[in-house]
Amino acid sequence: MYIYVCVFSRLYIPSVRFGANVLSSVFFCSEKTRPDLQYVAYTFWIHYYVGLESGTEGSFFLSCVKLVLSCSYVIVNDGASFECSTHVKMRDCSARSKFVRSWLKQASRAKVKICFALCAAVVIFVIFFGHCAIRFFQELYAMGKCPLNYNEKLKSQNELDSSLDLWSRVDVQTCTKWGAPIMWEGTFDPGDFDRHHIQKRTSVALTVFAIGRYLEVYLKEFLKSAEQYFMVELPVTYYIFTDIPEFVPKVKLMKQRHMKVIQVKNQKRWQDISMLRMKTIADFIESHIQHWHQYIFCFDVDQVFVGRFGSEALGETVGLLHAFYYRSHVKDYTYDRNPESAAYMVTGDFYYHAAIFGGTWQGVKNITEFCHQGIMKDKEKNIEALWHDESHLNKYFWLHKPSKVLSPEYCWSTIIGFRFDIRVHRLLWATKFYDILRT
Ligand code: UDP
Ligand code: MN
Repeated sequence: MYIYVCVFSRLYIPSVRFGANVLSSVFFCSEKTRPDLQYVAYTFWIHYYVGLESGTEGSFFLSCVKLVLSCSYVIVNDGASFECSTHVKMRDCSARSKFVRSWLKQASRAKVKICFALCAAVVIFVIFFGHCAIRFFQELYAMGKCPLNYNEKLKSQNELDSSLDLWSRVDVQTCTKWGAPIMWEGTFDPGDFDRHHIQKRTSVALTVFAIGRYLEVYLKEFLKSAEQYFMVELPVTYYIFTDIPEFVPKVKLMKQRHMKVIQVKNQKRWQDISMLRMKTIADFIESHIQHWHQYIFCFDVDQVFVGRFGSEALGETVGLLHAFYYRSHVKDYTYDRNPESAAYMVTGDFYYHAAIFGGTWQGVKNITEFCHQGIMKDKEKNIEALWHDESHLNKYFWLHKPSKVLSPEYCWSTIIGFRFDIRVHRLLWATKFYDILRT
């Protein structure tokens, strides 16, 4: 039954899924089911699903706590159910209380102790691993759905996008409601994209900032892995922005691949280093990139390529789904909530991760100029958006929808743990050493 509910809830639209969950809970509460099972299942599933449907990630945590508290209460209070005494008067309450009471009478002290130990273990687990547990169970929360009919293709002027096999992945959302593809492993033929871009003589610029200690800690691994996996079929130029050019590591580059180092000033605050990237990139597109490359991708340096990050990622404007939020409810996205800020948002489509964004040079110029203007407006008011440049990027993609979205395969964090829907890792977050790196 549990498996049935899990599978069901991943495949269908939210209202159906919600109905299925309520039905399953009713089954659990039927008189034929053992009262102790009913109790646990009822408390857990109803609270878990109602919580997630109503959009509060934290409510899962609360449900766990409540489940443990209720169980302890039942044991400690001689079988008088917490739910029965304080909450809904369910038909089978008395039967349940009787069952627990008789169990307690018969139970040896050892059994009661084991029970307490188990409850304590659950409490400790929830307290220490609460966030991991939430992330683990988040996979049960279905993503939005591609609004096309089954087996329908995208209607795009771009041949490659309209050839995508969106329905090879029914476990995830493969297109947005405005008809942009979301790139998941299995939906595209890498060869098609490579052939197309080789024929078009596409040239790609990759920008990365390595300022202060970020250079010695991350840059070498980033570049070495990019040489192995980043658009290996195409000409790529790395533009490295740093305050200490002499320390840029020497990395052996393949044919058609180049590296240029550009000196920039360090900033007192790490937030400013991160935000000023927008202005630097916009200016650099204007002065240089537009003459040499059709596409540009902007990366954080604290990550490592571990699998193909190929030409399928190229598009007019490209955003990345944040690994921590791609299965969260829109209310849980950490948009900027300060109405004074230029990045202020009430709602949105997705939560995009600023560690990667890209597009044609025109597209990225628009993105970076918009974000920089927003940042400057905020600075005039002496305020700062919650997640700095990322908040402004989210605002941009809300007002100007990206033409392509990358799945979290393109920037995964192993902290989240195993997920069935992440079939390949293309880029992984490197370990963060904020305490020693951030100034
Ligand atoms: N950065 C840098 N030096 C710094 C702070 C930031 O070079 O002192 C650059 C670097 O490319 C980094 C990016 O700005 O990847 C964003 O900062 P960070 O990765 O610390 O932000 P997070 O990904 O943790 O939000
Ligand atoms: Mn980063």
